[in-house]
Amino acid sequence: MSINLQTPIDYLKGVGPNRADLLRNELQIRTYQDLINLFPNRHIDRTTYYKINQLQRNSAEVQIIGKITGFKDVAQKRGKRLVATFEDDTGRIELVWFRGQKWVRDSIKLNTPYVIFGKTNWFNGVFNMPHPELEPLKTHEQNLRSSMQAVYPSTEKLANKGITNRVMSKIMQNLFLETKGRFTETLPNHLISELKLISKSDALFNIHFPKNQELLTRAEFRLKFEELFYIQLQLILKNLIHKSKIKGFPFETVGHYFNSFYKSHLPFNLTNAQKRVLKEIRQDLGSNAQMNRLLQGDVGSGKTIVAFMSMLMALDNGFQACLMAPTEILSAQHYQGLINLSKSLNISIKILTGSSNTLERREIHESLENGKLQILIGTHALLEDKVKFKNLGLAIIDEQHRFGVAQRSKLWKKNTSPPHILVMTATPIPRTLAMSVYGDLDISIIDELPPGRQAIKTVHRYDKNRLRVLRFIRDEIDKGRQVYIVYPLIQESEKLDYKDLMDGYESIVRDFPQPKYQISIVHGKMKPKDKDYEMQRFVKGETQIMVATTVIEVGVNVPNASVMIIESAERFGLSQLHQLRGRVGRGAEQSYCILMTGHKLSQDSKTRLETMTRTSDGFEIAEVDLKLRGPGDIMGTQQSGVLNLKIANIVKDKDILQSARFYAKHILNKDPSLAQPEHKTILNTYRQLGKYKNIWNYIS
Ligand code: ADP
Ligand code: MG
Repeated sequence: MSINLQTPIDYLKGVGPNRADLLRNELQIRTYQDLINLFPNRHIDRTTYYKINQLQRNSAEVQIIGKITGFKDVAQKRGKRLVATFEDDTGRIELVWFRGQKWVRDSIKLNTPYVIFGKTNWFNGVFNMPHPELEPLKTHEQNLRSSMQAVYPSTEKLANKGITNRVMSKIMQNLFLETKGRFTETLPNHLISELKLISKSDALFNIHFPKNQELLTRAEFRLKFEELFYIQLQLILKNLIHKSKIKGFPFETVGHYFNSFYKSHLPFNLTNAQKRVLKEIRQDLGSNAQMNRLLQGDVGSGKTIVAFMSMLMALDNGFQACLMAPTEILSAQHYQGLINLSKSLNISIKILTGSSNTLERREIHESLENGKLQILIGTHALLEDKVKFKNLGLAIIDEQHRFGVAQRSKLWKKNTSPPHILVMTATPIPRTLAMSVYGDLDISIIDELPPGRQAIKTVHRYDKNRLRVLRFIRDEIDKGRQVYIVYPLIQESEKLDYKDLMDGYESIVRDFPQPKYQISIVHGKMKPKDKDYEMQRFVKGETQIMVATTVIEVGVNVPNASVMIIESAERFGLSQLHQLRGRVGRGAEQSYCILMTGHKLSQDSKTRLETMTRTSDGFEIAEVDLKLRGPGDIMGTQQSGVLNLKIANIVKDKDILQSARFYAKHILNKDPSLAQPEHKTILNTYRQLGKYKNIWNYIS
């Protein structure tokens, strides 16, 4: 007979209705199954006992044998705290309770051997241990079955209501007794033997009650692998289903536009990475399935020409294409860029933004619907209902993190049949994260910069060296270069930031007086028109200095600008710093990025600055960013469901993730419907998991 793991937790020995409510509300544990999957945060070694005279002032958690010799109440601002004196044969410490004092007084026996466990603090010449775990030595000796003790997630409420870690352990023990520790295997035998995994039952036992360190490690590995394996399986399946269900327009021919551009009008040789990516896109477009591809490439890696040549494939097959960018400035730059590239091809290209006038709009709407207009570029104005294509074959989105998934699907609905979609981003997402979050998109990567680029020299300077920095700026301007000076603008402190920007601007105007120097300023409070005007002055070279907030972060291309000064650089995130730096180094001249900071820096700020001065590899920077901020912050809340892992950690368990993905792919390649007998376990587990919305809720 096997116990049904869907049994409500109320029925487990040692739980009862009150505790069941607490467990449900505080830890979302409803069933036996939920409880068994409450994995410990960590494990502590309970075989080592400290003597009081061995305690270190920085000591972590310790376990001590001794006796309580007395209690006293100590008045404090609000209420009182209970302090006990605890002694062993080498000294004494104080145990402190701020809550639950009555229970402690009533249940603890004086001058009786106890084992206490907890964190010690050094205060006023004595060690104290707040809210220790206490157990009579006798019980402790009887209970000791495992040297590594699990420490479970808890909440203040649980602790206050007496559900201590010891109680949790006890409940867990009851669960193992009741189920006899037998649990259904969830991975197929061939994987278990190939990867030398321990069985599900052994893994669960040893994660909760490790027999030794080695078994604990193997239990962790097995459970992490399983968790990541099923997520990957899900993502890959979704991709497969997408491909088989959603038909795309097959672009069968490589025709006149593409060929004549490739043969006669390429402005430069494509890098190998660009060629590889074009091939990947070409393959998608030529197949019967709708393309859903993410193109990652660092700033300056040359994504635009890839986008353009993909559009030519659409045009060659009689389809229209569009390119959507997050700002007017960027759209205008793309428009100009594509006009230049297509000069001798005789293609009709137009731009649509919020500031297009009625006449322009009418013309665009009309020529779009009758098919005369082949390529439309613009901002989210493209998403307006009035914008109707005759036959949109390819939609390209630049800088995807500015647009949401919702917008992607809006573009998608512009046709009876969805167009191919290419999303381009200059914010590299670490491969591991991309695999987990975008596992359902195909990913192309341009990991090579066009030849002849000089590395940008990046340095960190303190505010007190500002005079030297100003001298440097003057020298560069005298050589004919242009300079960006960027100030942070963070919403919460907008007013202050704005003041910083204005103060900075004024002092720069003093340091670089007219008429010799001309200065542009751009910030978020300006009207789009004024912003654009100032921007254009800089683009045309009429001004030498651009003072700005991060509005210039995205995509602006001024090849003559070779110096990027970032003020209060410690306040920017890594990916933002990297994006900003990408604004320079676009021309033939040596470029510089100077990170200005005050003297006091947090450890994280130091790491960010050190990373920026060490490397310009966007993927490496993204990895550091991921480590500093964690995956949730990087992806935003939108997709965080996928990152709600119970035991694995995307950053630390990269290798396991890769292996899990490899096996999931391999299995689905052989047996996409999981129909083979050897995959029965997978199919069953997969179906079972599907019932739990909390695991799969990120799936639309
Ligand atoms: P991003 O990936 O940041 O959008 P762009 O497409 O704007 O980069 O390209 C950056 C610059 O590099 C542009 O001036 C572009 O003309 C140039 N470029 C792109 N590919 C190559 C190449 N293969 N060889 C030389 N220059 C290139
Ligand atoms: Mg670009």
